[in-house]
Amino acid sequence: MNTALKFEKYFAYILYYTGLFFVYGKMKNISNKTRILMYHRVVEDTQAKNDVLPKMVTKDEFENQMRYISLKYRPISLNQFLDDAKKGKIKKKSIVITMDDGYKDNYTNAYPILTKYNVPASIFLTSGLIDTDKMLWFDEVSAMICSTKKMEIKIQNRIFNISSNEKKTSSIQNIISMLKKTDNEERLRWIKELQKECRTSKNLNNKNTMLSWKEVKEMSKNKLITFGAHTQTHPILSKMNLKDVENEIAKSKQIIGIKTGIEPGLFSYPNGGKEDFNKDIKRILKKYDFKCATSTISGLNDKNCDLFELKRIGCSHENDNIVFKVKISGIFNTVISIYKLFIKVINK
Ligand SMILES: [Zn+2]
Repeated sequence: MNTALKFEKYFAYILYYTGLFFVYGKMKNISNKTRILMYHRVVEDTQAKNDVLPKMVTKDEFENQMRYISLKYRPISLNQFLDDAKKGKIKKKSIVITMDDGYKDNYTNAYPILTKYNVPASIFLTSGLIDTDKMLWFDEVSAMICSTKKMEIKIQNRIFNISSNEKKTSSIQNIISMLKKTDNEERLRWIKELQKECRTSKNLNNKNTMLSWKEVKEMSKNKLITFGAHTQTHPILSKMNLKDVENEIAKSKQIIGIKTGIEPGLFSYPNGGKEDFNKDIKRILKKYDFKCATSTISGLNDKNCDLFELKRIGCSHENDNIVFKVKISGIFNTVISIYKLFIKVINK
């Protein structure tokens, strides 16, 4: 566990066991904000242990979390949140579930749990990968480095040590975050270089990683599940020219519309950080009639929030039950805001 996660855990335990978390939950103005939770993969226990990129929860964790929110919160769809925000009436304790990328386990593992607890969810599809044996580019980078026999690899004139599992994990994380900051064409070129560098003979592609259109179609018939667009190939949109951005957005919307019979009105930015989208990208989304876009910026949403910059709370295997409860309450964000205000006042 890295230092930031350890800090988050200790902080959550302090808030939980001092009772501050419970007091916070009773405060009316906080309850009137909507939490949008962000998931990626819902996997078997054994698989979660090998989560190099922290984006998995186990089936048991997901079930516990859905049970908890169905008892303590008011689970609504993202479309319901948009309607409520438009009317200026966000109901207390609203909570929205979103799942990014379009992994097959959303159907095999998450879908039965969502229906069991009657929890609506929006699934954002990387449409170009659905029904293919291709992997998302960061999963491919991770798989290549995991399967190579080399002790170190060179990329962008930097040498990365991959001589142990621990070193592999940190190198994978560093390489992926480096590639996310790289111009799109360059990124694609570096991934090709990495394929040569890793010299992986194994076929890493796997038909069982991403959803099929048949599974998408079946879930789309259930009123609990809404599909949104997450581009065709999961590039970092701010690192592309606007013509390519438009192509990624338009194609994703069109294909999901054709395959499900429902034109998607929801969008999720790949990677979703502040630096991964901008006003030109928002303008393109509006041109294609999207109603909102979710980011990965942490926080809660009120009726006056920017619908093309919705904040979310990330959920992963690294957060235990207590951290999950404290995290989704929104208390972290309030404490950080108070701290920032405090610093501002002292600096005056
Ligand atoms: Zn994604």
